[in-house]
Amino acid sequence: MAIEVLDDIVANQIAAGEVVNRPASVVKELLENAMDAGATRVQLVIRDAGKTLIQVSDNGCGMDKEDAQKCFLPHATSKIKSSEDLLNLHTMGFRGEALASIAAIAQVELKTRREEDETGVKVVIEGGVVKEVCETACSIGTCVSVKNIFFNTPARRNFLKTEQIENSHINEEFVRVAMINTETAFSYINNEKNVYSLTVGNAKKRIIELFGNSISDKLIPVSEKVDLVDIEGYVCSPEFAKKNKSWQYFFVNGRFMRNTYFANAVDRAFANLLPEKNYPAFFIRLSLPPQNIDVNIHPTKTEVKFLDERVIYSILHASVKKSIGQYSLASELDFSVKTIEFPVITSQTPIPKAPQIRFNPEFNPFDTSSEENFSLLQEKPVVQPSLFESDMPQQATKPVPQPMENRKDEKAFMQIGEKYIAVRSKNSMLLIDQSRASQRIIHDRVLASQSLQIFSQRLLTPQRHLFSPHISFRLVEFLPVLKLYGIEMEYDKKDGSFLLMAKPEKQSSEECFELAEELITSNNEQIPGEEQLRKRAFMLSEKLKIQYGESLSQNRMQTLVSQLFCLPDCMLDPKGEKIIFKLTIEDMDKFFE
Ligand code: ADP
Ligand code: MG
Repeated sequence: MAIEVLDDIVANQIAAGEVVNRPASVVKELLENAMDAGATRVQLVIRDAGKTLIQVSDNGCGMDKEDAQKCFLPHATSKIKSSEDLLNLHTMGFRGEALASIAAIAQVELKTRREEDETGVKVVIEGGVVKEVCETACSIGTCVSVKNIFFNTPARRNFLKTEQIENSHINEEFVRVAMINTETAFSYINNEKNVYSLTVGNAKKRIIELFGNSISDKLIPVSEKVDLVDIEGYVCSPEFAKKNKSWQYFFVNGRFMRNTYFANAVDRAFANLLPEKNYPAFFIRLSLPPQNIDVNIHPTKTEVKFLDERVIYSILHASVKKSIGQYSLASELDFSVKTIEFPVITSQTPIPKAPQIRFNPEFNPFDTSSEENFSLLQEKPVVQPSLFESDMPQQATKPVPQPMENRKDEKAFMQIGEKYIAVRSKNSMLLIDQSRASQRIIHDRVLASQSLQIFSQRLLTPQRHLFSPHISFRLVEFLPVLKLYGIEMEYDKKDGSFLLMAKPEKQSSEECFELAEELITSNNEQIPGEEQLRKRAFMLSEKLKIQYGESLSQNRMQTLVSQLFCLPDCMLDPKGEKIIFKLTIEDMDKFFE
């Protein structure tokens, strides 16, 4: 048998099979090209499941006359010039074979115009043969019409599945591109019918537009930013789980990817929450430096190789778990039960989202109710009204639940062993470590440079203290910060001493002076601000936290718990130790079995 060198056209047809195996692959390539061209408006038109027409028009950068022809040559790409570029690609594809492959197996018409050109150019190419190149009037951007796919390879054409199946593949490709490119408006018309008109918006809005309103209250945000990778997106709550994995969307640097390994990290985070053979739905975007990934190991480029795969796996797993934990805790708490009220979390008040830390200034976790005994203190305490807001008439217009004490017959919180706070919720009981909870709240407030709202007492006879000159010098400027922490001092110009006017209830005057000095000396300018603040947050939370053995009023427990639930990932204290223990009905049933 004689060996023959295939002519270009046949070779291209064979190569094309790798890239284009069904209309949906054309849709994917054309949409990705539109995104690479920087389009902010894209339209997809399909006729007969893509068998007669696939058309993508965009308002992107367009091409000049030369490029409009060149782009159909195999390995024609504007995205890469040397092998070094391979490492730094941010755009979608760069194999430069999509348009060549598509032109090899269909009748293609390209119309394109750049902003700077008066007229556009039209190129008609059929089965890899250029039929026409001419000037044309058209709007800025590019419109590619792919007609009669596989017209010259009947075997492939016959291989196509039913319209329904081909359409579902097309829809899927459209969704994958549209979901991640939220800054682009898309319209998709199939057989003259408008399937989607997507307006510019955020990820959540886009997901809802694509999957319908019923998903909107099922989306649990996932967010984690570390040096290695930036993770952002949503997992759906367990009741939205699916019987297959088709609702699992990963995107890496703006492109859809398939990754069973990472999907497993998410699946595992849902362990025990889903019935067998059910899979979580998720939409997760990973961003990382392009040199740490290789997107070109598969011809259709939905598989991606990562350098730090295992580390990313753990980060992903942990961040999803954290989000589910927060969600299940929040949904577990039954706000309809009269005896429990979480004033901070009302239907009018959005629950703060990580990583921003927000507090309701009206509530004070360290607020000791007035009937508490101060006899241990030397000085007769004078209550600072501003620190007692939760017991004062509310100035805010929104309705605020009554403090617990006002309902003598109902006790929502129980203190156990002057150590734990027991909270009843819908299907479980929560035990909260009072010391760790308070530590976490202080820690986060210091980080956010917010007032700790510690119950501080005004001293009838202010205590005087003389610091060494180098401390005094800096302390004068530091006084407003100290006030946030409940320590109020005044500088006495006459003798250079400081007068302690008010201090946290549990700290002695001496301890306050020591603390002030420690804060000043640790305020090392060499260390960057953020790290310094972190250290300070840790130190203060250790010193000012509620101790074990401290008895807490209903009101204080309530505010402490509601403050805690406003924090992102409130399960852990600053040292990473558990704050909350949850005992579910199932746990109880198991015990009594
Ligand atoms: P690749 O996208 O891998 O570079 P393609 O065959 O998909 O290869 O496209 C070849 C080239 O044609 C691209 O690099 C780009 O310069 C140009 N091109 C394709 N589609 C468009 C478009 N919609 N707008 C502007 N330029 C385009
Ligand atoms: Mg391309």
